[in-house]
Amino acid sequence: MKWARRNSPWLLHFNTGACNGCDIEVVSLLTPRYDVERFGAKLEPSPRHADVLIVTGPVTRQCAPRLKMIYEQMPSPKFVVAVGACSCSGGIFQDCYNISGHLDQIIPVDVYVPGCPPKPEAILQGIAKLLEKLKG
Ligand code: SF4
Repeated sequence: MKWARRNSPWLLHFNTGACNGCDIEVVSLLTPRYDVERFGAKLEPSPRHADVLIVTGPVTRQCAPRLKMIYEQMPSPKFVVAVGACSCSGGIFQDCYNISGHLDQIIPVDVYVPGCPPKPEAILQGIAKLLEKLKG
């Protein structure tokens, strides 16, 4: 089971209020240029089948309960990658009235990928780091 998870992680992407800059970089991972599928990864729309939650953006008050619900629906063991400065620390939106706190105050985070937005290579490196962690 652990071997299968390490060699074919299913990724769920969730935007909690991003400006879309980080989302464009996440989507570019699926292009032949970056080819995240070479790690066996696949984008999965359902939280019930996903192993890894990729979060972009600051967590808005509106999104916080949805984020928690999505995380709770994922089967254990589950992992979270924070992509972008907003997701890692609130970024430029951290003092806004509609932000409900850092991502890691709401759900546990395994890997942080800083940058605004981070380059696709940095996101790939974050995913590779997570897969290394899964080797145990
Ligand atoms: S880190 Fe930058 S690019 Fe990503 S959501 Fe925040 S402002 Fe947009």
